[in-house]
Amino acid sequence: MTRFCVRCGSATALSIPEGDNRERHVCSACGAIDYQNPRLVVGTVVEHDDTVILCRRAIEPRRGFWTLPAGFLELGEPASDGAARETFEETGVRAHIEAPLVHFDLPAIGQIYLLFRATPVDLSLLGHPETLSESLEVRAFGWETLPWDELAFDAVRLTLELRKKDRQDGVDRLHYGALRRLPEVSTIGPHSHRLEDHLALRVGR
Ligand code: ZN
Repeated sequence: MTRFCVRCGSATALSIPEGDNRERHVCSACGAIDYQNPRLVVGTVVEHDDTVILCRRAIEPRRGFWTLPAGFLELGEPASDGAARETFEETGVRAHIEAPLVHFDLPAIGQIYLLFRATPVDLSLLGHPETLSESLEVRAFGWETLPWDELAFDAVRLTLELRKKDRQDGVDRLHYGALRRLPEVSTIGPHSHRLEDHLALRVGR
């Protein structure tokens, strides 16, 4: 597919710029280089009493499946602010960000997931239809009754598994890892990647 220069509108072509070491989309007319880099997805695990807040996706991919509130970070926005913003947009909940919980690299799709542990400040609009842009439904699930078979993605499943274990252990941890696509699984779902290079760092005391 032809791509066009954001500066002058001419067609771009793939080439390795001088002094670089990989192919870029380079403008044939003005020489501008359109760098493509991973995007950051920010979101939260909002914990309220012994529940966690999940939303049912209103958009593809994985429409109808449960996910954590999360979305793309905007330019000029600190990650924790973006996580709180996405949480409000998708659940109606005003949340206080407590600490980073997971950093997952998804190199196959050029994304990084940075999810924070959070607590609710205002639950009065939880699941209120007028506050939701991308959710069919919002619900607080008990940690013992999470909808494991209806989760949207591995990043959601792994985040919930790791946090559930930390809660059982009575410690807060920050988890780093890379999600690698399982070649034998053809469709994206909650069992299509495995976690590699997992590193758990204890947070706080
Ligand atoms: Zn150009």
